[in-house]
Amino acid sequence: MTGIPAFALRFAPLRLRFGEPAALAVAAELEALDLSRAVVLGTPGHADAARAFAAEVGARVVGTVALARMHTPVEVTEEALTQVLALDADALVSFGGGSVTGLGKALALRTDLLQIAVPTTYAGSEVTAILGQTEAGLKTTITDPRVQPEVIVYDPRLITGLPVQISVTSGLNAMAHAVEALYARDRNPLTSTLALEGFRALWTGLPQVAAKPADLAARSATQYGAFLCGLVLGQVGMSLHHKLCHVLGGSFDLPHAEIHAVILPHAVAYNINAEGLEWIRDSQLYPDNLSVSEALQRFARDLKAPMALRDLGMKEADLDRAADLAMQTPYWNPRPLERSVLRDLLGRAWAGLPPKEPPEKRHG
Ligand code: NAD
Repeated sequence: MTGIPAFALRFAPLRLRFGEPAALAVAAELEALDLSRAVVLGTPGHADAARAFAAEVGARVVGTVALARMHTPVEVTEEALTQVLALDADALVSFGGGSVTGLGKALALRTDLLQIAVPTTYAGSEVTAILGQTEAGLKTTITDPRVQPEVIVYDPRLITGLPVQISVTSGLNAMAHAVEALYARDRNPLTSTLALEGFRALWTGLPQVAAKPADLAARSATQYGAFLCGLVLGQVGMSLHHKLCHVLGGSFDLPHAEIHAVILPHAVAYNINAEGLEWIRDSQLYPDNLSVSEALQRFARDLKAPMALRDLGMKEADLDRAADLAMQTPYWNPRPLERSVLRDLLGRAWAGLPPKEPPEKRHG
């Protein structure tokens, strides 16, 4: 019998409501916490939706600040901070995807205001104490308990209108958290169990979402999966895949979820021999003759996810700098990083070629 290795977990005080109508749940939480000057955060592109949500929550909301942008640029946070302070806010309600959650976290770091996250994508940021911020073309990540939202409200009704393309890439973003959690150095039986459960929910649910985007059962299953994937992201360290995505997102301003969709099969091919991936290999989710990376690339292709960095607007001339940046302050990875292999990986991902596994591949 295999024993349980030593492990550590951290759970911040967190209240989570799953499945109720979001505006009612947010209003009830504000009332229970005796907060009456909440500000709803959103993006410029969905400012109307943020205002409509604020109106639905009711009198405990004093305004909306719809400034969130991808990769949490510091200058946007500073502008939003001015507006939040002018509204004399006592709570932040982040209504949107990871970009809005990121703005809420960046504001909470600076103000310690209570956050209620109402996620509308599968990014999973709401369940972590991690904040990525971009300044002068570099994305840096901090972990700080002050950025963890105290309340999370998941309402699958809110995401029935999330476009299929965004649902697919965002779902793959969540699955990437699960995959890297499975081979994380500090993984434990609980995080691996949750990671596989989250991965499985998205693997089975995303094709249903793609076929029938308004199907509430498929939306709730995938939202639950994304929650589990976010949960493990917040518990264990991420590796090469997330490092590459942070470099590509922060330094080349490429769209976050789409980068994850393109890079995941390639990063998994690089780490194909990692201990922990057997959880997916043994899951019976795909035919035995495929490796995990091949199965992931086929899954993404079948869902019409983007396959090439060049299609996301990356220039071929930037690949060398991306490889250099990926070697700087690297995250722990199960396989040592080799610049030439990483450069090759990035070149293949740029061109949309199949992932390349190492010649000394030991596992399928
Ligand atoms: P996003 O928030 O930019 O949303 C992606 C797209 O979906 C946007 O165009 C947005 O307008 C649209 N959208 C969102 N909700 C919608 C809805 N209900 N209907 C229609 N369109 C909708 O991107 P994302 O992929 O959700 O999150 C990416 C960001 O989150 C990145 O900055 C990333 O670094 C961060 N992130 C952080 C963590 C963490 O733990 N810190 C984890 C995951 C992602």
